[in-house]
Amino acid sequence: MTPRSPANTPPYLRFLQQLKTCFPVPVSEPVMDGYFVHTVSRFLDRVDDLKSAAPLLGQSRQAHYQNSLGEGFPEETQTVEEVTKLLTEYCQGMPIWAHPNSQVNVVPPTTIPSITAFVAAAIYNPNIIWDEYSARFAEAEIQTVSMASDLIGYDPQRSGGVFTFSGTGTNFYGCKLGIEKALGGRAMQEGIREDVKIVSSAVSHYSRLNVSGWLGVGMKNLVTIPTNSDNDMSLPLLEDYLRRAFDAGEKVGVIIATMGTTDAFGLDDLGAIVRLRDRLAQEYGLKQPPHIHADAVIGWVWSVFRDYDFAANPLGFRNRTLKALQHSLGRLGDLAQADSLGIDFHKTGYAPYLSSLFLVKDRRDLSLLSRHPEEMPYLYQFGSYHPGIYTLECSRPGSGALAAFANIRLLGKQGYRVLIGHAVEMAEMLRERLEAHPFIQVVNDRNFGPVTLFRVYPPGVEAQAEFRREVKDPAYREQLEAHNFFNRRIFQLIHDRAMRGEGVLLSWTDACRHAQYGKDEGPPIAALKSFILSPWTDLAAVDMVARQVVEVRNQMESER
Ligand SMILES: *Cc1c(COP(=O)(O)O)cnc(C)c1O
Repeated sequence: MTPRSPANTPPYLRFLQQLKTCFPVPVSEPVMDGYFVHTVSRFLDRVDDLKSAAPLLGQSRQAHYQNSLGEGFPEETQTVEEVTKLLTEYCQGMPIWAHPNSQVNVVPPTTIPSITAFVAAAIYNPNIIWDEYSARFAEAEIQTVSMASDLIGYDPQRSGGVFTFSGTGTNFYGCKLGIEKALGGRAMQEGIREDVKIVSSAVSHYSRLNVSGWLGVGMKNLVTIPTNSDNDMSLPLLEDYLRRAFDAGEKVGVIIATMGTTDAFGLDDLGAIVRLRDRLAQEYGLKQPPHIHADAVIGWVWSVFRDYDFAANPLGFRNRTLKALQHSLGRLGDLAQADSLGIDFHKTGYAPYLSSLFLVKDRRDLSLLSRHPEEMPYLYQFGSYHPGIYTLECSRPGSGALAAFANIRLLGKQGYRVLIGHAVEMAEMLRERLEAHPFIQVVNDRNFGPVTLFRVYPPGVEAQAEFRREVKDPAYREQLEAHNFFNRRIFQLIHDRAMRGEGVLLSWTDACRHAQYGKDEGPPIAALKSFILSPWTDLAAVDMVARQVVEVRNQMESER
């Protein structure tokens, strides 16, 4: 046999040769390895060129989705260089979350090791469906479950957990366990044939709607308990509801305690909810008390302060910060009372999306979710860690688990204390600045996290008194709605400035809460929102927020 000459090589093989340069090489070749590194580094340089004083990459532009609808599937290949350049363009307009003037929602800047973990996962493509496909990425998941358990106070010898697709996924797991328990573990096999209730507060995350709809209990089985002015679930109203439910023989599958609400950083009284559950379970002789799931996707990280010496205060936080941290810790210090909980490393953990961990106090609960191994015979012949038997997903990326692992090792309790302590300290400083103006009202003034919700009022209106009327007096409905509109305009003007590189990128919420007219829910109350997570946010950035509010309000006045 003679080797085929290049002339009669089939064309596809010539293409194939070319296409191989689009992949990192499987066996080290210095030239091609260098090409890969160079490509990534060129890309990063190009993106870096988009940076300016503004808290976003390049320019933001209105998306023209109509044009996107005409895209057809291309016939020809493009080069690595062409596509890499194209990718740079798609970074245009991305907010830079680490920027001191980026105070948008709960989106963190990401650390270098957590980014590296994602790079590792992107290149080597672990699938933590089982350890045979993921080597030590599976070990990282198990170790992270153990470290997170230790942090919040679960016994790592008994606890269990899995990484899943986002905070919503952790609520799926918590509710699924509650439903299975309520139905004697039969729902997996037989489906849901009777009503099971999911209970949470009025300001709990809207993913409760997805969860109840998709798990098949239906949104009509969601029970929403009104909140107090501190954005926590009303305990007397929870007790009222539970008594009515148990009297009527209803099944309550799960109570979700929200440990850090999305807008206001409201904290339910988890300890009191657990005690109430236990007391009523005994009184009513319940065979299966409701499962309690803590939606701690934002609040989990405050656990790092459980063993901070607040008296000696070795990190030197201001007094106001210490009080804020201790106040939050009063509710977040004992997450271990929950039967299960959710953690988002992609929120207050400084890891990229997605990195969410579902933790359960007793890992035997996970067997309620397991399918029969013989239904997946092609997967489990080897290896010894088989989470695919009970996870919602089949394929699961190794990126989230390794990134969480990386940040825990990188930062430790001390690093997280510094990052979160700083965020809270800056939020407290912002409040001090805002409170100095009689026309600004901080509306979550008794939630002491990194987020500040505030409303601005027009001249002639005294903020505090006005807000008090708005939240409960139906005669003020019209003013409330006019002020929502006024604040929306303030937000827009500040946003426009930020886009020009002259200001702070804030968030907006249409409904940080609703007015409460006696027993009836009133209209939504909107607010401006500053969420501080960046280690670069400093006093200058905080001063700028207050200054801009004043300037923009004056501008509106002069335009009238
Ligand atoms: C963000 C959030 C969720 C949902 O998490 P995702 O990761 O966005 O799916 C659930 N609960 C609370 C309290 C949240 O803030």
